[in-house]
Amino acid sequence: MQFRTDPKTGNSISILGYGAMRLPSKGLKIDFEEAKKQLIFSIENGINYIDTAWPYHNGESEIFLGKVLSENNLRSKVFLADKLPPWVINKREDMDSILAKQLSKLQTSYIDYYLVHSLDGTSWDAMKALQIKSFLKEIKAKGLVKNVGFSFHGIRDDFQRIVDEFDWDFCQIQYNILDEQNQAGKTGLEYAAGKGLGVIVMEPLRGGNLAAEMPKEAATIYDSSSIKRSNVEWALRWIWNHPEVLCVLSGMNNMEHIKENLVIAEKGLPNSLSDSELDIVQRVGDSYRKAMKVNCTGCQYCMPCPFGVNIPSCFEHYNTYQMFGKKFMAKAFYHVQLGGIVGENESMASLCTACGKCVSRCPQNIDIPKEMQNVKKSMEGFFTNQLMKIIGRMMRKQS
Ligand code: SF4
Ligand code: SF4
Repeated sequence: MQFRTDPKTGNSISILGYGAMRLPSKGLKIDFEEAKKQLIFSIENGINYIDTAWPYHNGESEIFLGKVLSENNLRSKVFLADKLPPWVINKREDMDSILAKQLSKLQTSYIDYYLVHSLDGTSWDAMKALQIKSFLKEIKAKGLVKNVGFSFHGIRDDFQRIVDEFDWDFCQIQYNILDEQNQAGKTGLEYAAGKGLGVIVMEPLRGGNLAAEMPKEAATIYDSSSIKRSNVEWALRWIWNHPEVLCVLSGMNNMEHIKENLVIAEKGLPNSLSDSELDIVQRVGDSYRKAMKVNCTGCQYCMPCPFGVNIPSCFEHYNTYQMFGKKFMAKAFYHVQLGGIVGENESMASLCTACGKCVSRCPQNIDIPKEMQNVKKSMEGFFTNQLMKIIGRMMRKQS
């Protein structure tokens, strides 16, 4: 295992982190014995950063981790990350009570890395109005959490604003070979690292889609290279090549994948890919983009939309839905992130009034209003919206 130094604390963090969001399951429940075996194996093989959150496995992920870490005397061997869910916070006292419940579920007196979960510009402003800054300062001063940060799914300008508006220790962004320009993107990664924040990367394989069967052209590019690597190895090595990245979270729920990722992590050194290797990944990324339904680069010049549509995110989820096999998951992520489930406001395609204000700002000449109709048709609809409302209620459930 390779380790990198957290710039704020000097903590030595394994470059591969264990995401407890997609643990092995039996039906709707965590397969406790199998998940325990995988977690302990991961820790024994060097992983020391474990990430969970309030809604994962409907509140059971925190309980699972608390039980396994305490019963096996592993708590002090790992850095534990957990997240405050803004979507269940209505007043300042809710923050205190949720943290107290999380500490109890995790069977610990402190959390090493505590994040405000899935912020965007509007949810950050709402949390500020509820005094989140004083809450974060207070829990850190009391030693209930060691480091405070945020995870992010919004647009780049908001990311930089959030970085600037509080004395954060770290942050967590979505970053992979397809998202160099999406959300916080490379600019955001470099900006946060430049401000001295440790940067944790999530979705390195875009929800597992980059590990699945590739578009033919992309596969041919990798196949024609003299360097033989799996598509997972190319994708992970590309992220670790960035010296600004502290740790990459992988939601591993299969022993073979854990073993494979551990082997790859041995080679995950910063600046270890040559120019020609980077060119290969760039060409693979381009060929994925060519296969996308909407040629959106995520540049965000079209934003803000006066009616609240998150244009690049709508296209990002729509492209994932069209290109990869996991259609239900793509729809679920679209609704969770843009349907007002984890953010303050909805920002889905159905809000588009076809006002046309964004069209001239798009360097790709995308007919945005027309494409928004297509996104709405594929990603929304009466039954989908009802189902997603149920998922939203489950996420709000106070365990
Ligand atoms: S056309 Fe639609 S997406 Fe574009 S600015 Fe108007 S409402 Fe927003
Ligand atoms: S301006 Fe065009 S390419 Fe850029 S994010 Fe908006 S829709 Fe995508």
